[in-house]
Amino acid sequence: MDNSHNNPDKSPKEDGKRPRSLITSLIITAVIILVFTVVYNMIVGSRYTETDYTQFAQEMDKGNLAEAEIRTDRIIYLTKEQASLPAGQQKAYYTGLPLGADTLELGDQLLDMGVKVKFPIVEDNSTLLMILYYVVMFGGVFLLMRMITKRMSGDGLMGGIGASKAKVYMEKQTGVTFKDVAGQDEAKESLQEIIDFLHNPQKYADIGAKLPKGALLVGSPGTGKTLLAKAVAGEANVPFFSISGSDFVEMFVGVGASRVRDLFQQAAKVAPCIIFIDEIDAVGRSRDSRYGSNSEQEQTLNQLLGEIDGFDSSKGIVCLAATNRPEILDKALLRPGRFDRRIIVDRPNLQGRLDTLKVHTRKIKLAEDVDLRKIAQATAGAVGADLANLVNEAALRAVRHKRKAVNQEDLMVSFETVIAGTEKKNTVLTDMEKRIVAYHEVGHALVAALENHTQPVSKITIVPHTSGALGYTMQMPEEEKYLHTLQELETELRTLVGGRAAEEVVFGVQTTGAANDIQRATALAKNMVAQYGMSKALGLMAPGSVSHQYLETQTYLDCSQETAALVDREVQKMLSDALEAVKELLRQHRGLLDEVSLYLLSKETITGEELMTYVNREGEATREESQEVPETQEASQSQETSEA
Ligand code: ADP
Ligand code: ZN
Repeated sequence: MDNSHNNPDKSPKEDGKRPRSLITSLIITAVIILVFTVVYNMIVGSRYTETDYTQFAQEMDKGNLAEAEIRTDRIIYLTKEQASLPAGQQKAYYTGLPLGADTLELGDQLLDMGVKVKFPIVEDNSTLLMILYYVVMFGGVFLLMRMITKRMSGDGLMGGIGASKAKVYMEKQTGVTFKDVAGQDEAKESLQEIIDFLHNPQKYADIGAKLPKGALLVGSPGTGKTLLAKAVAGEANVPFFSISGSDFVEMFVGVGASRVRDLFQQAAKVAPCIIFIDEIDAVGRSRDSRYGSNSEQEQTLNQLLGEIDGFDSSKGIVCLAATNRPEILDKALLRPGRFDRRIIVDRPNLQGRLDTLKVHTRKIKLAEDVDLRKIAQATAGAVGADLANLVNEAALRAVRHKRKAVNQEDLMVSFETVIAGTEKKNTVLTDMEKRIVAYHEVGHALVAALENHTQPVSKITIVPHTSGALGYTMQMPEEEKYLHTLQELETELRTLVGGRAAEEVVFGVQTTGAANDIQRATALAKNMVAQYGMSKALGLMAPGSVSHQYLETQTYLDCSQETAALVDREVQKMLSDALEAVKELLRQHRGLLDEVSLYLLSKETITGEELMTYVNREGEATREESQEVPETQEASQSQETSEA
């Protein structure tokens, strides 16, 4: 809780700054009070008009005085004319009295003339009261001033105005520890040293070890980079500064740079601490023009580099940065002494996903029937943020349904919401469109079901989703796969073109609904040819190189033009071969295709099991047929294969 506890060496560092801002505040407070007093006296004074003593004496001689108040230094008096006016319009006069004048005698004299005389009560503690009054006022104004300057960020009034409103978030304690981060064991291990260093910078300094200044967390969005950085701060029990790279990017030249300066200044005050820069690629992109850059960004980057080089790491500042595009970062950022450590934060595997689900369901009441492993299996490719979202959606759904605990159905439905977008019930498809979508989806599913190497289909639906998909076929991998055989990839390719094949076979049309399938099929075929060495034309050669490794695998060709043309031709051939093969397959199973599609049209959503009963029934039917006519060799062979 107590911050000063963590950094006993805090006060000496602040010494340089404090007095200056303190004196500024003091002076400003004094000026405010002075001005206030002068103005107050002026307002109060304007109620009386000063006259000279002669005039007072004349009025007195004429017996023209109505009232007089005799103070130690002055007489305030009211003439008879004024006294006859209504109270609001009366104008009193005053004139000075020399110090030591015999006010009592003057009073008696006036009394004799029938003037109403008043002596103000002078309490002997009035000076004390006055002092007290000023002290309280001074204190009040001073505190107010300090509050205002604090609010304006930073130290001193002037500093506060200069510092722009960069969105620096400082958390004294993040409250996040490694326990809250599921999986990511390698990343945690690499970060452990940083934690140790933050705990005890001196230990490293003593031995003369070069201390790490920064580490780059690399991984897809939502994999938990921010979470990890926070956990490092939590484990080390140090404050956590976070800012997003895009906050540095401003229209005005110089603002970004001043924000960087400001950030490091603030951090230096509370060291040891963690500075976390999210989306560092926004400022740190390479300065060569290939990715487009401008002078503002360059200035900001230079400032950042300067600050990183500048701070004394023995104080215990560690700079963590996150990106999903390390390849576009300026090389200068990655040089030793800067973000030279790279920590990969991968998409979670099956175990990682299961752990993530467990972490996020810790505080959620789960029904007996919940099987997190099943959810983990179904969510291959999902990142931690997706899973957190999924669990929350499930909990919300349980509340909507007025249940006390989250059950498996909640989780499964939320899975679809998160992965495929919420069911969009109001998209109205015409009947013809619906038929095409149904055949398209069944086309995918049937290919997947009929090819024996494939994963079973878990669900087919033609209910449109907000993600834009008019329908989808959900495959459920039983286990995580890291290795894929040629055969499996070919099956995947055929499954992908299954939708378009069904459209062509049944309706003789080609629709835009297959666009995404075609993209994915093309990418897959391209990978097979250019990366996996799975084509006859190129053989083992891999002219492709991968970039954007952490976002998605996209292949870029790095070869002669002839080879590139060959790759293109080969990809084209693979795709058209696959399409032809699938069209043939669907023609052979046309009856099954119609049956399942009509059933899907009537129910809108069918499960994988329902699909399999149709598929198996067809299998039995053909078996019976072939048993009736066991004459040809082919027929008995097909019987064997279908039994196997
Ligand atoms: P990134 O910074 O990589 O985009 P975040 O750290 O912001 O991702 O993650 C977003 C949210 O996803 C986190 O707040 C957390 O709830 C959840 N999350 C991500 N990865 C994990 C993980 N490994 N374990 C637990 N929760 C995670
Ligand atoms: Zn499709």
